[in-house]
Amino acid sequence: MTELANPAAPGPAKKKLLDLSLGEIQDLILALGEKPYRATQLGAWLFRRGAEDLANMTDIATATRARLAQVAELAPRLTLLETARASDQTRKILWAAEDGARLESVLIPEKDHLTLCLSCQVGCRLGCRFCRTGDLGFQRDLSQGEILSQILGARKLLGPAERLTNLVFMGMGEPLLNLKEVTRSLALITSPQGLAMAGKHLSLSTVGVIPGLYRLAESQLNFGLTISLGAPTDEIRDQIMPINRQYPLADLKKALAAFPLRKGRRLTIAYILLKGVNDSPREALALSRYLTGLKTKINLIPFNPWPGAPFERPDLATIELFWRTLRDKHHTVIIRWSKGADVAGACGQLAGQRNAEELKKEPIGS
Ligand code: SF4
Repeated sequence: MTELANPAAPGPAKKKLLDLSLGEIQDLILALGEKPYRATQLGAWLFRRGAEDLANMTDIATATRARLAQVAELAPRLTLLETARASDQTRKILWAAEDGARLESVLIPEKDHLTLCLSCQVGCRLGCRFCRTGDLGFQRDLSQGEILSQILGARKLLGPAERLTNLVFMGMGEPLLNLKEVTRSLALITSPQGLAMAGKHLSLSTVGVIPGLYRLAESQLNFGLTISLGAPTDEIRDQIMPINRQYPLADLKKALAAFPLRKGRRLTIAYILLKGVNDSPREALALSRYLTGLKTKINLIPFNPWPGAPFERPDLATIELFWRTLRDKHHTVIIRWSKGADVAGACGQLAGQRNAEELKKEPIGS
């Protein structure tokens, strides 16, 4: 007896275009029997123009678009849920993924540039005690397409005089624990056929997942590296960053010393200042000793409180004394007052949650 095909049976899943690399887009186009230049056209629609519908890709023949629509879709999509603007004009953006997962990005205006802080995971499994994302636990990794969609979606929120100039992977999640999707995204962000952004305007922040650092070093991608250090001794770091028990400071220093820096680049050391925990001149001197032999600049980040946080921000005199102690040891050091704190969009405050108390909502699309 011949088996009849079930007309209701689902066909093969469609490819999600924003999750593909440029090479995979090329393969898809060639498999449809199209000329290679169609892949360039498709890439331009996806990454330059941020097309939201295959039907809008008007320089691609109607028949090609129809064939493409049978095998691929403009996905994954993030739905914009809310934006909230802080008094310093920082905008926190809350997105919902297709499965309902919530994530946040932050648009940070500065004097001569506009930075988007990207998330790479929903939640985080590393549990740094000063971080609200870590406090919420881990849900899942974001895909390349979900990372890129934050950029494409944020660009649509910009005013006519605004241009997105910088990207930082410093939002929710640890980039080196989602390394494959993060490096695939970086490749597309920096490719002339992708988002064509210069590597000197990109930065990736990690707490120092050492195997990931070595793999990242091999990637040959162009970006700046920030290490969230948090403490200059294992004794303190073990308490506030559980990752340190797995990858202690001495091993981290070896990995940092081996990390290939491009010409003119230094490692950025992010050091969050927590009252009474890591903010005394003794810790400043220990930090100075730890960084000896590394090419670094130091960003001191006074703690940004969130509801239920177990830490407080040090007073100004303590912050300045810490800064002076490092400066007197000839380090390049600045105090970074995080932006967006009044909408819980500052460093360490992201939670991927709607919160009417926190969010001074503005109409979507503003
Ligand atoms: S600081 Fe980064 S690595 Fe640590 S819990 Fe927060 S998101 Fe995760």
